[in-house]
Amino acid sequence: MQRNKTVAKHVFLLESYFLVCYKYASLYLQMGFYNMARKKLIAGNWKMNCLTEEGVALAKSVAAKVKENKFNCDFLICPPFTILAAVKKCLRGTKIALGAQDVHFAEKGAHTGDISPLMLTDLGCGYTIIGHSERRVDHFETNELICKKAVASHSAGLTTVICIGETGAERDAGKTIKVCQDEINGSVPNDATAKNTVIAYEPIWAIGTGKTPTAADVQEVHAAIRKALAKKLGRATANKMKILYGGSVKPNNAAELLSLPDVDGALIGGASLKADDFIAIAHNSCK
Ligand code: PEP
Repeated sequence: MQRNKTVAKHVFLLESYFLVCYKYASLYLQMGFYNMARKKLIAGNWKMNCLTEEGVALAKSVAAKVKENKFNCDFLICPPFTILAAVKKCLRGTKIALGAQDVHFAEKGAHTGDISPLMLTDLGCGYTIIGHSERRVDHFETNELICKKAVASHSAGLTTVICIGETGAERDAGKTIKVCQDEINGSVPNDATAKNTVIAYEPIWAIGTGKTPTAADVQEVHAAIRKALAKKLGRATANKMKILYGGSVKPNNAAELLSLPDVDGALIGGASLKADDFIAIAHNSCK
């Protein structure tokens, strides 16, 4: 009898202990403390710039600067398709990953002018950007198409940087968060993980214009994006997934933007074409 009572007491104590641990663990997740585990990603989108000579010189310069500094962040550069192979050679022995700026969803076949996910991995790419606003606008890419590209890229072993963001008119109409939620729901596949997917929030009106939202606005949108990801993929995945900010990131605004709790790095266009600026952004924000 006495023995049963002691056992019951121990079981009760053990249960209470696990309950308290569980409560603290979920509080920890809900408050986003998980972002300590999200290493910052500094990514350069070179867009349709650089012939071989210029691209190789830029890649060599970035590689040398990354090697000589001990940055606590990951790096990615996304040159145009034409110089991926040449740039790959310059990145050997560095921790800079190589990415493309787009991809087709098919494995191979009659798709004149397109590049498949396996062609990218064959070249040594680990990433591809998809759904950049310039492709959504210039090439009429839809959320559905972007989602298909993401699925195909993930099965080939690529990590996708899926871009979302509102136009100036949508922001003025107070639709920013709704637009981002819809783009998350439509272009991120249901099986996306924190390993194969990075989100880039790029307000279209901030791209290449020198304008940026306020830090408070950026944090509000990033937190809403993480909430939308949690609804779609579960809180644990959402808490681990990197959300980059993109749109006129420069050395002088990077520190403030990248110190925000839900900002896990930057997708950089114009400033990634100057090695000193690209490195200064990392320097100012990856402490
Ligand atoms: C981009 O187009 O991905 C981008 C962020 O460009 P910029 O930094 O020039 O605004």
